[in-house]
This record gives sequence, structure tokens and C-alpha cells, in this order.
Amino acid sequence: MLGKSDTMQRMSYRVVLCALLCWSTAAAADVRVVATIFPVADLVRQIGHDAVEVTTLLPAGASPHTFEPAPEQVRAVAQAAVFVEVGAGLDTWAEKLRTARSGPLAVVTLATGLPLLQAAPEHGDPHGGEQHGGDPHVWLDPILVRDHCVPAILRALIQADPGRQAVFQQGASDLAAALTRLDTDMRGALAAVTNRNYVAFHAAWRYFGKRYDLREVGVVESFPGKEPSAREVAALIEQARAAGVRAVLIEPQFTPRMAEQIAHDIGAHLAVVDPLGGPDLPGRSHYLDLMRYNVQAFVKALQ
Ligand SMILES: [Zn+2]
Repeated sequence: MLGKSDTMQRMSYRVVLCALLCWSTAAAADVRVVATIFPVADLVRQIGHDAVEVTTLLPAGASPHTFEPAPEQVRAVAQAAVFVEVGAGLDTWAEKLRTARSGPLAVVTLATGLPLLQAAPEHGDPHGGEQHGGDPHVWLDPILVRDHCVPAILRALIQADPGRQAVFQQGASDLAAALTRLDTDMRGALAAVTNRNYVAFHAAWRYFGKRYDLREVGVVESFPGKEPSAREVAALIEQARAAGVRAVLIEPQFTPRMAEQIAHDIGAHLAVVDPLGGPDLPGRSHYLDLMRYNVQAFVKALQ
């Protein structure tokens, strides 16, 4: 029969064992990375594989343009070693989270060092004022991702864990090759499209359009999350008719009502394009798949 003290001893032994196991897991710790949006988080995972633990700050279904962080985002940032944001006004809410944090943190701002396109010139900057000024949607151009974003993420991961340099370099070079194949496939998919004019839901596709020779004739919401006035809608319809627009884009993060009405009025197709994707969305759960999904949506709507 076991005495009370034996039971206690066994219990405390278990506690010690558990503590040791937990500690050894922590000792072989992955690099903790926080990324503001899902597609960027996925790029980090493709580079770091098992050596990184990546948290996405923006919850599924939310838009970075209208998001307000909660305590769980504050906690995630507090534990991170690397912080990856887009910048150019897209995720200013994240800037506040990381500057409030103490301790060393490698910060990657993807838009930094890139020649940024103008943000919505006809209505000023929809992404938060003159101090930013540029269009932040750089991740929607796979070649900018390959040549600028991937190297920037790679540098930060190596800085955070120099011992895994070879692993990270291999991941980055595999991803770069996959992005090159993606670009070739996207060009192939769009080759037969003759009418290349579209109306966007918000001005997210200008880098994408510049790379693949597609033209944004206008946008439904100049300020994402704010419905356009009747006068703006009338002007957009006129522009779209004059340009022979056949495709109006909608996005899962915003209500499609106004875009549906405009598409109906001008006799255009609606295309669901998704700048963000997410881990639980079939066909959009990795950056590469998300971009293949988007190019197919463009092709289908523009035909
Ligand atoms: Zn956007």
C-alpha cells in the first residue's frame, strides 16, 4: 500500500519530469515570428519550415485596412523574435504593437526600400495619410516577393538564429524557384486574355496589374470599408463603360453589394479575388495557391 508521502513524491517527480521535458522543447526552440497578414506569414513558413513558429496577427476574414488589435495580438508580439509587417500604411496598428514592446526584436518592413506605386491618386491616400503615401499591396506581385520580400525575411531569420542559416537559405532558394514557376504560369494563364481592363473593389491589384499588364480602370471603395457616394458610383460606371470593362472584382473581406450593383449595371462579370487567403480556405491556404487562385479568377472574369 502506498503511503501519502510516496504519492506526493511521485507527483513531485512527475512535475520535475514535465518541467524538464518542457524546458528541453524550449531549448530547441523555433524562431518565433509574428507576421501582420496571412500571405506574409506563409512566406515565412516556406522559408523557415520546422525551424519557425509563425503567428498571424490579422484574424481570418478581417481586413488590414479596418482592423483594431486585441490583447491576444499584444501577447503574440510580446513573445516574438522576428516581426514582419508590410508597411506603407497597411498595418500601422501593428507598428503600435511592436513599438510598445521591450526587448530585442528583428523588424522586417516589406515595403521599405521598394519603389512604391502611388496610392489611389484620385482620392488621396486610402491607407492613412501623407506620411505613408505609397501603395502597400506589394505582396501581390510574386516577382517583388521573390526579389525583395524573400531576401528581407531571410536576413531577419538568420539574424534571429544564425545557427540555422543553411536551413533558411535552402528554404528561401526553394521558394524563389517556386515563385519563378508561379510567374511563368501566371503569364501563360493570362496570355490569351485580350480585354485587360478591370474595376477593383479596392486598389489592391496595381503591382499585380503592372506585372501582368492588367489595368485598373477604377475602384468601388477608395477608402476600404467605406461605401462610395452616389456621385462616385455614377462616375465609376461611366469610366468602366468607356473602357469596356468586363470584370468587377469583389473580395471576401468586404460586402459585395455595391460592386454587384455596378457589375450588373455595366453588364460585367464579378470575380472573387482574395489578397489575403487563410489557413482554413481550400485553394488559398498557401501564398502560391492563393496567387494561382487569383490569376484564375482574373482570367475567368476577363474572358
Ligand atoms: Zn488593401
